[in-house]
Amino acid sequence: MENRPAPSNFIRNIVIDDLNSGKSKEIVTRFPPEPNGYLHIGHAKSIVLNFDLADEFNGKTNLRFDDTNPLKEETEYVESIKEDVKWLGYEWDGLYFGSDFFEEMFNRAVILIKKGLAYVCDLSAEEIRQTRGTLKEPGKESPYRSRTVEENLELFERMRNGEFKDGEKVLRAKIDMASPNLNMRDPVLYRIAHASHHNTGDKWCIYPMYDFAHPLEDALEGVTHSICTLEFEDHRPLYDWVVRECEMDNEPRQYEFARLNMTNTVMSKRKLKLLVDEKLVDGWDDPRMPTISGLRRKGYTPEAIRSFVREIGVAKSYSTVDAQMLDHFVREDLKLKAPRTMAVIRPLKVVITNYPEGEVEWLEAENNPENPEMGTRKIPFSREIYIEQDDFMEDPPKKYHRLFPGNEVRLKHAYFIKCHEFVKDEQGNITEIHCTYDPATKSGSDFTERKVKGTIHWVDANSAVAVDFRLYEPLILDEENEDGTDFTSNINPNSLEVLQGFVEPALKEANPHDKFQFFRHGYFNVDPKHSTAGRPVFNRIVSLKSSFKL
Ligand code: ATP
Ligand code: MG
Repeated sequence: MENRPAPSNFIRNIVIDDLNSGKSKEIVTRFPPEPNGYLHIGHAKSIVLNFDLADEFNGKTNLRFDDTNPLKEETEYVESIKEDVKWLGYEWDGLYFGSDFFEEMFNRAVILIKKGLAYVCDLSAEEIRQTRGTLKEPGKESPYRSRTVEENLELFERMRNGEFKDGEKVLRAKIDMASPNLNMRDPVLYRIAHASHHNTGDKWCIYPMYDFAHPLEDALEGVTHSICTLEFEDHRPLYDWVVRECEMDNEPRQYEFARLNMTNTVMSKRKLKLLVDEKLVDGWDDPRMPTISGLRRKGYTPEAIRSFVREIGVAKSYSTVDAQMLDHFVREDLKLKAPRTMAVIRPLKVVITNYPEGEVEWLEAENNPENPEMGTRKIPFSREIYIEQDDFMEDPPKKYHRLFPGNEVRLKHAYFIKCHEFVKDEQGNITEIHCTYDPATKSGSDFTERKVKGTIHWVDANSAVAVDFRLYEPLILDEENEDGTDFTSNINPNSLEVLQGFVEPALKEANPHDKFQFFRHGYFNVDPKHSTAGRPVFNRIVSLKSSFKL
């Protein structure tokens, strides 16, 4: 993994203090996704934070699937999450499923009941909500709160045995219905759900709630620092209560940081799932999605994602990060790695009328002028080439230095060419232009007699490979609406443009995920889904320039 100075942050400082004071002998963190969707760039922030912390202090990081809700979870998600964490460059120490601990959690709930700290309640979910009170008013105690330990033990066992229907009973903690913290007002610990679980099948019909399961999972795995997002700050007293009252040997501590928000990005699995289910995108790995698999397919690299999330840092207050910052880091990463070649996205044919028919010459080109180690290649040149349509204008404005009748430009890696005439079809579209070349101006020769102002790229028409280019714009036009309007009304109708053009012949055999810089166009990635043998499809990752400054 790349060398990096460890960015300081308040969680890292806590870890350092805990190691120095001997409070923690070793640090153990975890990344705890719920397998109810694919990971997104926000999760990458949590992954990098947890794994980097443990790496820095020779600790451990577990991957734990927080799979306590049987209704939304699927094995497909489990597999994709593992793949994404590995792809980001991390290896977990322990691999756990929350559901591995169901028996242990049940036993811990029994401890609470025996201590008089939990009871079976027959109120409906709606009634529980209504009696919970508000920030100003205390809640109302449930009429079932005074059930005896024996009665609670028996009813809880019967809940487990499937004797009740969904929603008929719950197990609640007996804490304080007047607590200023609403989470402490007898929170539900277990609910009944007669549903098949992706891991435990039909073994269980009662499932622990997040606030009960999560601290127990952390404690059972030996986690020392349980890092989560700010929404859980108010849950911390309950977290500590569960660890303490369930008499866990290991006492993990919870720390909260602000979740990542980005411009032009929806960052919630629920919304991303909706985009997939409504077929508004081409699956979870659509290159316009902020999922790890979407970013990968578009062509972002793990290095770029890691640098990005490290740079934005860890804070206690919310902010929205400019999505262009991620683009900055992928450019930085690919600058020295990606070969630079030529591609014509909107082709216009050029006939070089004084070049001998049937002749082909092979011109030498550097693969990456900023990285000489990448060597050189030969590219063919002949009488017919393609250039970009907008590199020619019949009637150009001032300061247009590319091709127009009478003007001369440099063809990158080749010769100067001068335009003499052009051909139009019946609709008035320019279909072909005619130029002459000057053999004395060959690239690499020390020709100095005249200068040209424009350099344009091209590909040899005879040998060029026909390919598709997929150009992207943000999928979401504005930041997420705060006013409750459905975010789908912000979807950009022009987020994908597919164009047919040409690349240099050597790219015919490009493999999925090969990355290139196309001269003047930006960085591209060979799409793993749409490419076929001999006909690659190129996703534009980013253009070359941006106004973004770090
Ligand atoms: P979502 O709301 O997108 O479904 P989640 O928080 O429900 O996200 P989990 O699978 O429960 O998703 O999250 C796994 C871990 O990733 C948690 O520790 C969570 O805090 C963290 N995480 C999720 N979204 C972000 C984000 N935008 N920024 C930072 N961390 C995040
Ligand atoms: Mg969640």
